[in-house]
Amino acid sequence: MLSFDDFSGQSTHIAQLKSDFSAHTFVHAYLFAGPKGTGKRSVARLCAMAAVCRSEQGKPCGVCGPCRRVLAGTHPDVHVIEPEKGRQTLGVDALREVLEEVSVRAFEDGTKVLLFPEAERMTAQAQNCLLKTLEEPPEDTVFFLITDQPAALLTTVVSRCRVVRFHPLQIEQAAARLVALGLQPQDARRRARMAEGCVGQALALDEQSLALREQLTRDVFSVRRAGDVLAVVNQYKDMKEQKTQVLDVLECAVRDIMLQQAGRMPLENAGYAPEAEAYARAVPLRGGLKLSQAVTRARKMVGSNVAFASAFESILLTLTEEYARWPW
Ligand SMILES: [Zn+2]
Repeated sequence: MLSFDDFSGQSTHIAQLKSDFSAHTFVHAYLFAGPKGTGKRSVARLCAMAAVCRSEQGKPCGVCGPCRRVLAGTHPDVHVIEPEKGRQTLGVDALREVLEEVSVRAFEDGTKVLLFPEAERMTAQAQNCLLKTLEEPPEDTVFFLITDQPAALLTTVVSRCRVVRFHPLQIEQAAARLVALGLQPQDARRRARMAEGCVGQALALDEQSLALREQLTRDVFSVRRAGDVLAVVNQYKDMKEQKTQVLDVLECAVRDIMLQQAGRMPLENAGYAPEAEAYARAVPLRGGLKLSQAVTRARKMVGSNVAFASAFESILLTLTEEYARWPW
């Protein structure tokens, strides 16, 4: 089982949460804010477990009945409040229903926990309804609002919560964490870089996106002259569904290439093809910057309904211009 200490690098508040929840001295509402995959949900679940744990020491113990029910998602006093299936937002009626149900009584005569894993999905009306509850909180109840978009929450709601910020780890730290979780070092490093230090995102990466990263950078950075462009465009022109993913990978690759060009971080073991590394070694930072602008421009083109093939082609043409300038 994971413990609070596993997340000590993700937020400066972890030790405080650990002691507050072990000693049952927590406040009634928390806002966990930070990028996806930085441990917000996992830490909220640890807090929930510690709040209901029956162990005398070392809460959460992970083995008592309540702890196990939280882990299994079956604890009757730990509620996860999300939009209904097929809905984008959590409306006021659905929220009111949950709050009423919760206010009746605790099933296990202990603390009640309400988790909002995507708090930003609450409508303004729902947030105002929640605000009233937060102003007069029911006894022995703790709310966790979890979000990667804290700006979507009303300031009045935020002001009622203790704000805990989560952040990504350094790439090296994230890679070490992934190795500790059982990944091979090279895979860990590649995933840590792809997910920019967000461990949860790194774990969630699927083989398909890892493969795309290597294949795409191989194809793109094999382009040397204008005559090479068409063949590569033809290979990717039908990937309209994945156009955002393709542009994301390129953006990420160009940023990492620029980091190498600037002498900040070597490109090895980041999951890119050797062709990308060759480019980074041969072209100076100024060339990388041009390429980065080309990717941004292509994204705008796609956004204004220019065909993906044309947008992609424009990136490759910039690449050939840079090649002509800095022959490798
Ligand atoms: Zn326990």
